[in-house]
Amino acid sequence: MIIDVSTVKDIKGASVEVELEGPPDPMAIAGTTLKPVTPVHVIAKATSTGHSAILIEAKARAEFTAECHRCLREFVFDIETEFQEQYYKVSHKPSPMSDCEEDEVLTYKGDFVDISKEVNSHLALSLPIQLICSSECRGLCPVCGKDLNDGECACSEEEGDIRLAPLAQLYPSQAKDEF
Ligand SMILES: [Zn+2]
Ligand SMILES: [Zn+2]
Repeated sequence: MIIDVSTVKDIKGASVEVELEGPPDPMAIAGTTLKPVTPVHVIAKATSTGHSAILIEAKARAEFTAECHRCLREFVFDIETEFQEQYYKVSHKPSPMSDCEEDEVLTYKGDFVDISKEVNSHLALSLPIQLICSSECRGLCPVCGKDLNDGECACSEEEGDIRLAPLAQLYPSQAKDEF
């Protein structure tokens, strides 16, 4: 994911907009590996801010599949991120930056700004904490392991809510629908 800034780097205020694609870094959530479905798609604007610096404003989006932690089904989900980073031309670091640690300053060489690392690190920051296929996911029955998104299992009919048990005997069909 490299941006050619040859046309803007020497003109303060000049900018160029590009669309890029690149492979996502390996990512995982709570030990589950995410499988990329699409490359990372990036829309980026590079603006020369003077002093050999380029401001990159980027929007990145990638699609992954992974197993839902509740029902263990594979599902597809999107990760999106937006960020801004300033890149300094190598050997032209502005003096206030010299106090910072070397690798805190992003740099570019020649006509090209490589944003792959920052795209991936910002995508990683946007990952959800939990992998759940939907907020409504009902998961698996802890007794028989049936996917409850497909409907009730036999366990819930037998050991369902005790308060409703007499009702279930009186109106078997109705009580079933309520579960
Ligand atoms: Zn699920
Ligand atoms: Zn069950």
